[in-house]
Amino acid sequence: MILRFIYPRFRKFLESHKELDNFLGKYLVGNYTMPPSLAIPILAALTPDEHEVRLTDDNFGDPIDYDEKLDAVIISCFTPQAQRAYEIADEYRKRGTTVLMGGIHPTALPDEAKLHADSVCIGEGEPVWPQILADLKAKSLKPFYKATAVYSLEQFPNPKRNIFRQDIYKWNAHLVLTTRGCPVQCDGCPIPDKEGIQVRLRPIENIVDDIRTMPYKQFYFTDDTIMLPGKKYSKFMLNLMERTKELDVSIFVASTMMMLPDPQFYKKLAKGGVSSMYTVFGFDRVSQQLFDRSCTKEQWQAGIDLVKMNEDAGIHFFASIGIGFDNQDRSVVDRILKFCRDANIDLAEFYIPTPFPGTPFGRRADAEGRILHRNYDVWNHGNIVFKPLNFTETELMDDFYTLWKCFYSGIEPSSTLRTFDISKASS
Ligand code: SF4
Repeated sequence: MILRFIYPRFRKFLESHKELDNFLGKYLVGNYTMPPSLAIPILAALTPDEHEVRLTDDNFGDPIDYDEKLDAVIISCFTPQAQRAYEIADEYRKRGTTVLMGGIHPTALPDEAKLHADSVCIGEGEPVWPQILADLKAKSLKPFYKATAVYSLEQFPNPKRNIFRQDIYKWNAHLVLTTRGCPVQCDGCPIPDKEGIQVRLRPIENIVDDIRTMPYKQFYFTDDTIMLPGKKYSKFMLNLMERTKELDVSIFVASTMMMLPDPQFYKKLAKGGVSSMYTVFGFDRVSQQLFDRSCTKEQWQAGIDLVKMNEDAGIHFFASIGIGFDNQDRSVVDRILKFCRDANIDLAEFYIPTPFPGTPFGRRADAEGRILHRNYDVWNHGNIVFKPLNFTETELMDDFYTLWKCFYSGIEPSSTLRTFDISKASS
């Protein structure tokens, strides 16, 4: 069979905020310049050689020949890609080409995706991919596929990353999968719904083998579960670091503020090659508490200490901070900037929460009638697509700009916002 994978175009986080360009300067933040998600490279690796696999990187601007003779088109998408994914799917189907869809967005809204596809894969694709291929060949594709058993990462293949052109994505850190699933169930995260609430750890040998097969030196471990504070995770991370330190690599790690408060741990991560800690604030309980009015002096200091533990170990702390959550009001601008100053954070991005389908926040915003529209093109953390609780939409957009501008220019926010004094917080 001839199969064509499509990676749909999506509007980048700051694409509609040109006025922020001057403030970003040398930083490659807010641009989604990282290599594409591993979903397509994984399925490509799991496809037997008897089939021909082709790729359209619509995100890069590859032209699409809708009249090409194909056995199927497979489109994987997350929410900011969904609108474009549906457009492409509809064009192919008009011409009689079979379309399959999968990924985070179709998993969360399978009935919506089914309006544009012959078949939708719900959840992880790996366990059902052999069945999908067999059914495609037999021309007996089912409307939906959903794995009945949890996929074991013992069988995880090395993704075929070179299906994508590697030279066009400016950021050189190549994605490496380390875990699947998460028990934490943060308000804005789709992972527990899509991958389940048990963490599955990818075998360390398997990760090391994957890294060794790549001719690169920079990697991004995208799964923030590896930084959760439980013993199971820290032991896994340290065992992994024992192996990566032999490889002379630079590793970018993702986390929330729910990370281990142990300076030695970060020193060992640094020895294993970890050079950057991308830390998302806003979804987990620790960072929510940090910017809440009820934050105590001790909680504030604990947050600063976490940043310091990373920096002292030589790991650059990169903060990704959300504004507009239901527990925040306009005074949070001052708290966020004060925290960045107190913790000496010099690299940050700021985002607006997006009520993604398949997340508790998304379900709540929907149930409360607070979704403003479903133009998924702008559901990308850079735009307001839900009705905020304690901000008007104009105020939230102003405050989003204020954060970017004040952080990168060092200018103080307007005096009306300068009301926060942590020394007056309770202990
Ligand atoms: S944000 Fe991270 S810690 Fe929270 S549920 Fe998602 S994967 Fe788990």
